[in-house]
Amino acid sequence: MLRTHTCGELRLDHVNQKVTLAGWVQRVRNKGGLIWVDLRDRYGVTQLIFEEGSTEKELLEKAAQLGREFVIQASGKVIERTSKNDKIPTGAIEIKAEELTVLNPAKVPPFIIEDETDGGDDLRMKYRYLDLRRGVVREKLQLRHRMMQETRKYMDGQGFIEVETPVLIKSTPEGARDFVVPSRVNPGEFYALPQSPQTFKQLLMVSGFDRYFQIVKCFRDEDLRADRQPEFTQIDCEMSFVNQEDILMTFEGLVKSLFREVKGIELGEVDRMTFEDAMKGYGNDKPDLRFGMKFVELDHLAKGKGFSIFDQAELVVGINAQGAAGYTRKQVDELTDWVKRPQIGAKGLVYVRYNEDGSLKSSVDKFYSQEDLSAWAEAFGAKPGDLMLVLSGDAKSTRKQLSELRLKMGEDLGLRDRNVFKPLWVIDFPLLEWDEETQRYHAMHHPFTSPKREDIPLLESDPGSVRANAYDLVINGVEIGGGSIRIHDRATQQLMFTHLGFTPEEAQKQFGFLMEAFEYGAPPHGGIAFGFDRLCAIFGGSDSIRDYIAFPKNNSGRDVMIDTPSTISEDQLQELSIKVALKK
Ligand code: ASP
Repeated sequence: MLRTHTCGELRLDHVNQKVTLAGWVQRVRNKGGLIWVDLRDRYGVTQLIFEEGSTEKELLEKAAQLGREFVIQASGKVIERTSKNDKIPTGAIEIKAEELTVLNPAKVPPFIIEDETDGGDDLRMKYRYLDLRRGVVREKLQLRHRMMQETRKYMDGQGFIEVETPVLIKSTPEGARDFVVPSRVNPGEFYALPQSPQTFKQLLMVSGFDRYFQIVKCFRDEDLRADRQPEFTQIDCEMSFVNQEDILMTFEGLVKSLFREVKGIELGEVDRMTFEDAMKGYGNDKPDLRFGMKFVELDHLAKGKGFSIFDQAELVVGINAQGAAGYTRKQVDELTDWVKRPQIGAKGLVYVRYNEDGSLKSSVDKFYSQEDLSAWAEAFGAKPGDLMLVLSGDAKSTRKQLSELRLKMGEDLGLRDRNVFKPLWVIDFPLLEWDEETQRYHAMHHPFTSPKREDIPLLESDPGSVRANAYDLVINGVEIGGGSIRIHDRATQQLMFTHLGFTPEEAQKQFGFLMEAFEYGAPPHGGIAFGFDRLCAIFGGSDSIRDYIAFPKNNSGRDVMIDTPSTISEDQLQELSIKVALKK
């Protein structure tokens, strides 16, 4: 080894020992005859001291030449510092340097490699290997590592077998576009990269593996957002001979164990809510339950009083923001502008302020008496000091708009604490979802999800109301995982494809292998997949999954460090029998 200790290791106990350290120069402070060097590695920072008189002149000169991020090796004696730094674990000691070797000089880095940096996003991504030297960034990946180890430990402990499934496959319908890879040896043919290992894990159940998991890369060609990447990681799982309850309990167990082992938090009970209740109560299939502000429907109280906007609305619904009566007129106007932005799309916002003196002041006083408004307040369970906010319009979009407003109010009122964790199972999702664009039903989860047995007759008469054996795990308003009990017989799977608008030939061509497998003794099975990057981000208290990925892509799906995607050579194209004809 080029070192006897790491830069995070030495303490007062080591005083008088002769040690050798190696690492990067974080900072040099040169006071003429006295030079301090902060030496950094993955484990910490240790201070080296070079002093005129006791240090040879030549050594002092060499130290003076050191620049930021030089890689060096230094030997010397551990001494007690006169002025200690209690902010770092090695702050009680320093190394009185006796030897110094520059292992590799470095160019001046394009940004400061410390927790607080002056580098913008783009620059840090271009030099991601330098960004990753920063402690705060590395810690995020260390958290990811811990989560991965604890996941494997739990899954192994529960008898799950980790099986790798192929990356060059055929389209899997998880609702996004596929990334495709041309085949050289099969000209004109393409592989698809897996959007998930869905069909393979089901086939493993047919093979009798009983309990499968994999920490696996998935690929989806979608428009990117802060919490999306074209390639991302799932904890993918499948189990045989189970019902929904077994799956919920097993994976509640995983999440609880991760919170316990990684964060030292006892998660407690995981609530459950049906999709229908989530939509009615929060306008959202992933409600953030760190705070209340549950929707209150006011149709019976608000309609028929001459206020035509409410009278004509399909739904009048609001939230009560506790303690927000202090919002000024200006703040309420700002909220109104906020909900009217095209991204939210509300037509307006009605407010009722419950003043501390018990009086009620609203933006619709012309139409509603104090008694009317008191009845509203009662419906909201509001108290003096609260602010009620009401939207109206067609039911679906109004709920969506109010959901956004609820989240904003939660944020503004400081109710979305990153250190509070509220997990929730959302269950009983609809099986199918109507798509206006294609004028067809789509599988809400994926086509392998089973309908609830009692709802099967509705498939013909009212497909939209059929419920699925599907569930999502939501934490703090973020969908962390989702899965379902699967169809495991050919006839039902075929029926499902028919309802999704596949002809029998199309279904056969794309998924014949799975339907055939179902004819060779397929056990009842079900599973779930967790978005591992998101789970890490939640654990780390961040909104961006990018921070938890060593080499992420930017908003245009680009890796700016290695500069990809990129064109390929004419020779490569020829070999692949591909001609590029870009649309103008
Ligand atoms: N394959 C599904 C997904 O990626 C998860 C599952 O149903 O297990 O969302």
